[in-house]
Amino acid sequence: MAALTPMMQQYMAIKEQYKDCILFYRLGDFYEMFYDDALTASRELEITLTGKNCGQEERAPMCGVPYHAVDVYLNKLVAKGYKVAICEQAEDPKQAKGIVKREVIRIVTPGTNLSQQALDEGRNNYLMCLVYDNNQFGLAITDISTGDFYTTEVATLKELYDEIHRFSPSEIICNDSFYMSGASLDDFKDRLHVSVSTLDTWYMDEAVSVQKIKEHFKVASLDGLGLTDFPSGTLAVGALLLYLYETQKNTLDNLTKITPYRSGGYMIIDSATNRNLELIETLREKQKKGSLLWVLDKTKTAMGARLMRNWIEQPLIEKKKITARQDAVEELYNDMITREEIREYLNAVYDLERLVTRISYRTANPRDLIAFKTSLGMIPPVKQLLSQAKSAELKEIDERMDCLEDIYDLIEKSIQDEPPIMIREGGMIKEGYNEDVDKFRLSRTEGKTWLAELEAREKEKTGIKNLRVRYNKVFGYYLEVTNSYKELVPEDWTRKQTLANAERYITPELKELEDMILGAEDKLAALEYDLYCEVRDSIGEQVVRIQETAKAIAHLDVLASLACVAQSNDYVRPSINTKGVIDIQGGRHPVVEKMNNNQMFIDNDTYLDNKNHRISIITGPNMAGKSTYMRQSALIVLMAQIGSFVPAKSANIGIVDRIFTRVGASDDLASGQSTFMVEMTEVANILRNATSRSLLILDEIGRGTSTFDGLSIAWAVVEHISNPKLLGAKTLFATHYHELTELEGKLDSVNNYCIAVREQGDDIIFLRKIIRGGADKSYGIQVARLAGVPDSVIDRAKEIASWLEETDVTDKAKNLQVRTSAKKKEVVREAVPAEKQMSLFDIYPADHPVLKELAGLDVSNMTPIQALNTLYELQKRL
Ligand code: ADP
Repeated sequence: MAALTPMMQQYMAIKEQYKDCILFYRLGDFYEMFYDDALTASRELEITLTGKNCGQEERAPMCGVPYHAVDVYLNKLVAKGYKVAICEQAEDPKQAKGIVKREVIRIVTPGTNLSQQALDEGRNNYLMCLVYDNNQFGLAITDISTGDFYTTEVATLKELYDEIHRFSPSEIICNDSFYMSGASLDDFKDRLHVSVSTLDTWYMDEAVSVQKIKEHFKVASLDGLGLTDFPSGTLAVGALLLYLYETQKNTLDNLTKITPYRSGGYMIIDSATNRNLELIETLREKQKKGSLLWVLDKTKTAMGARLMRNWIEQPLIEKKKITARQDAVEELYNDMITREEIREYLNAVYDLERLVTRISYRTANPRDLIAFKTSLGMIPPVKQLLSQAKSAELKEIDERMDCLEDIYDLIEKSIQDEPPIMIREGGMIKEGYNEDVDKFRLSRTEGKTWLAELEAREKEKTGIKNLRVRYNKVFGYYLEVTNSYKELVPEDWTRKQTLANAERYITPELKELEDMILGAEDKLAALEYDLYCEVRDSIGEQVVRIQETAKAIAHLDVLASLACVAQSNDYVRPSINTKGVIDIQGGRHPVVEKMNNNQMFIDNDTYLDNKNHRISIITGPNMAGKSTYMRQSALIVLMAQIGSFVPAKSANIGIVDRIFTRVGASDDLASGQSTFMVEMTEVANILRNATSRSLLILDEIGRGTSTFDGLSIAWAVVEHISNPKLLGAKTLFATHYHELTELEGKLDSVNNYCIAVREQGDDIIFLRKIIRGGADKSYGIQVARLAGVPDSVIDRAKEIASWLEETDVTDKAKNLQVRTSAKKKEVVREAVPAEKQMSLFDIYPADHPVLKELAGLDVSNMTPIQALNTLYELQKRL
């Protein structure tokens, strides 16, 4: 086989080192991809596949993207989970002997993408490293776009999954023994679109890890970092750092600190609950509008927006911390003038965290620095406003906030107010900052004047009347003296050339002017570039102070947003208790009340405690407002634990450790599992993981199966939850099974509620008010009418319903047989109201032989096969 061309040889050598990446190989104005990379990229990016002569018979498949639009293509690939290695020319092609040297300058992965277009301003982009070691998991989590860096350790898979949910990273890296723990990340891959990869074993060496961490944080031991008690965490941090150095090929100066934490400091919200309660986005449209975040997030800065999201996804569980936030929110709530003034200043603050990352990655342009300066300019007035603060949390924010005046001054005096974006073409440095820059600039415009001035001065000094400053390509600028004045030439002039009638000289001053005039443009650009880099680097050295201040600003922004929302939406400050009492008076759904444009939202009370009100069974027709009511109760608890005020007349909230929800499974249809299976998996998860301090929201458990099974399961679930020895969690349980209302009285802690409706002729009016007691009717037919089911069907349904009501139960079954012609069978089944289906329980009299036989079976002594055969036999006889 013919040898590859030298360029393809180089390509192959580089590709060999980056097998798991798509290699963007720089060729002039393009990044080219070859072979498999080209096939993948052309498919994923929908770009034309061509071929390149590579020295061999067959051309190498090739496709390319222009360098100036590289971000778009790169982001597309990375968003799809690919890693892209960017290979640049490492020397000037004009100077190169032979093939131009090339090297990979960065690898972009989903968790390390810093492109402004790819990053969502309102959310963190986390990269997570998972290490299974010594029967526990070490976790390291970073967002390199903001500099956040955490580590923790957990012992169980459940805790591990909780942490993954909490951060919902875009990329996970793990060690190869990770899967020996029994963990599976498939669900995260599918649901959260996390890209997952396994690291080579050398990343996981303890000594290497420790060494890397020490080097990175420039410390002699790990004690100072607080990592001593986190051996597995340390491994993960080390591996993560190694991975970042590998991919970023950069000093990672913005990762200034690592925060070790112990899990359990926050309310746990699994992803199902996050989705069901529509905390961040709506279930159907997957958009922010209509979510809790949409209502609460009135932040003014990107940092604040990210923090708000984090707060919503991580409510607190410690009373002290919650009340500290409430105090701050209340203070800002009461002092509207200060708050709105603060918010106005915050409005002009850019994303300092991501700006400083670009600064330390040396990718920030001059306009970034001006945005940075503008932002810093807002801090002193904000601090001034905070200086009067009384609550501990606001005071602390004030202390953490640094005016960063030195940085402000530096940018103010060095960078033009409206600089260009490009950094190599000059025009960025302000006048007066650097003498040489000023001179170069002047020399461009004033070179001629200077020469004339010099000419006049020298004329005057020497008395050479016809002295001329002239220029030619060989000598540059020179002074020309005709022979008649030769004697007057001072000694320190250097003769350059003698002509027939004149002599040509230069002087140091003229030489200097010449340098300035001739090289001004290039030199100016180069000097400005150097100065710019100096300024940028010296800001980069202050990353720690800047990050700290950015965090303080975010914190203030979120508190002010909560106060602002509380005021405009008429919220109250909830009391917080640790006794487990949830007492909401006049509660409202924070989102529905805002979406319900012109309709009045009817408020409702919620009362749950650990004694006689552990479970509320809620009945009522479809559309009555059951799920709105349950969600609103959960959201109010969650908001209270964030530190927010809540939509209610008054509220006293007992802290809960987790909120679980089990509501409609429609969004899971895509996953291919049957609705019932999904429902039961979720129920299983809840029953296993809930504690007596959890709040459960269960909507229509048991709906996906036959009435008997469904009711039995629902019944058993309520029994289990209500029993403090088994679970004893506070629960709102909405159901269609009116039979469940019989549990009130049988079980101490169960109470019945229903949502009131009023009948008006054939119609019903939803009153939206929750009242004690069980609903007596389903109003299924009325709701069906409201939904637009054709009148003929409605009439037929009514006919069947009334006739079912009149006849006695046994007859019903008979009549059903009689009246149901084969053709109409389906219709009848459909049209029988849900309530009536339930009473089919009574279809077979208790002394029916099959039932008797069933009751007599000794199930515990049967093998599964025997049981199955017996069931089969019994069924045949029905
Ligand atoms: P259910 O779960 O009983 O079928 P939903 O909770 O879905 O009923 O409520 C149906 C509709 O009624 C909702 O879309 C909402 O707009 C409206 N609604 C619910 N509760 C209230 C209320 N308290 N005040 C006003 N409108 C409400």
